Amino acid sequence: LKMLLKDPSLLETRAYVAGAWTDADDGATFDVINPARGDVIARVADLGRAEVARAISAAAEAMKAWTARTAKDRAQVMRKWFDLMMENQDDLGKILTAEMGKPLAEAKGEIAYGASFIEWFGEEAKRIYGETIPGHMPDKRLTVIRQPIGVVASITPWNFPNAMITRKCAPALAAGCGFVGRPASETPLSALAMAVLAERAGIPKGLFSIVPSTKASDIGKEFCENPLIRKLTFTGSTNTGRILLRQAADQVLKCSMELGGNAPFIVFDDADLDAAVEGAMASKFRNNGQTCVCANRIYVQAGVYDAFADKLAAAVEKLRVGDGLAEGVTTGPLINEKAVEKVQDHIQDALSGGARILTGGKPMEGLFFEPTVVTGITQSMKVATEETFGPLAPLFRFETEDEAVAHANDTIFGLAAYFYARDIGRVTRVQEALEYGIVGVNTGIISTEVAPFGGVKQSGLGREGSRHGIEDYLEMKYICLSV
Ligand code: ADP
Repeated sequence: LKMLLKDPSLLETRAYVAGAWTDADDGATFDVINPARGDVIARVADLGRAEVARAISAAAEAMKAWTARTAKDRAQVMRKWFDLMMENQDDLGKILTAEMGKPLAEAKGEIAYGASFIEWFGEEAKRIYGETIPGHMPDKRLTVIRQPIGVVASITPWNFPNAMITRKCAPALAAGCGFVGRPASETPLSALAMAVLAERAGIPKGLFSIVPSTKASDIGKEFCENPLIRKLTFTGSTNTGRILLRQAADQVLKCSMELGGNAPFIVFDDADLDAAVEGAMASKFRNNGQTCVCANRIYVQAGVYDAFADKLAAAVEKLRVGDGLAEGVTTGPLINEKAVEKVQDHIQDALSGGARILTGGKPMEGLFFEPTVVTGITQSMKVATEETFGPLAPLFRFETEDEAVAHANDTIFGLAAYFYARDIGRVTRVQEALEYGIVGVNTGIISTEVAPFGGVKQSGLGREGSRHGIEDYLEMKYICLSV
């Protein structure tokens, strides 16, 4: 991997703790594996609670001077970090593909997306406005100021090794907070490469730490029990989110949670079918189906069901599965064996209920899986209630608008939903009726740093991105002055 990089020093395997590149206290390391090839690409420092506690203390200390700087000054440092990420987009993309598997073009797209949060929130730092309120008595002057919440702890998954971290650290640093992030142990290299660039950009020592570790629950406990932590921000499964929320209760920690989704994708009979197929391909097969906003259930109205199924299968057959570093590959491997088994299980379960495979359906060598379309899906099958997180497009048939909306909402999740329709009355009714934090209408791509991303119901708490994304990192202080 080092040989593929213009700047090999971006491939860092030590942790970045309290402004220093460090090994674990006990010298422990863990292997990072390339999911396309199965080979070990790096051995990374495997930290424990003690090192993480040092990172937290350093962040609390460094925060004092960082907060005291002007917003413009903080924004300039962040802008430099953004520029460095874009200058090194190629190398960061290659590191990301090697540890996670997504095709290089997609990986580079993620670097640009990830960096955009640093640019955006650096700019937002300058707009952390307060309020004045007309006094309730003649001698009272009321003001509200907004201050950084304190040291932020972050836990992120492997599916966006760069962007999931920048969405959290960028608003934290812009607000004036310190930050300690634990990347997923599948994908620590992208996080460490970002830390190399953070250091070069002039992010102060200690303010920002990256603490790789395989001991997820130990680190989660340190984050929830260390009194210097004031906020926990997490992206991952709903189940882990529940565990962390329970743990966070003891310290009454403010939490942001980006949890699981089970996105419906509805195609009405007045939809532009070609556009719907294009949107379904983007929403379902991006990142090989491994995003929390991927279409998980595709509902197609009876009148266009067969036509849509045929067009989708034809598009799916054009995908090229392979090593993400190879030219022309559109679809990488799954992250691990468990992910392969889950896709297989969902297909088996559907087939035993009477579903039919239109294309794909089988695992390939290693962690690769044939992109799959299955028809004849019903609400009693596993895919109706569980997130597949893989390249399986299950097609449900429906008759009426009410039925589609009812099925779409029949889940504990509420992150993203999509639908294709052209009748303006229907578009308006359905966008209002869907119980989701994000709705894509006639599009399969909804993520951007300028809009609020987040779920309702058991998909989460809080929003990331947009002018709202910095709110979770600020506390309001109301000041009552008697004159
Ligand atoms: P995913 O299916 O995306 O891996 P998880 O919720 O299992 O979803 O993992 C998301 C992140 O949370 C990962 O970095 C994982 O290591 C971490 N994690 C898992 N369990 C815990 C826990 N009990 N405490 C803290 N972090 C955890």
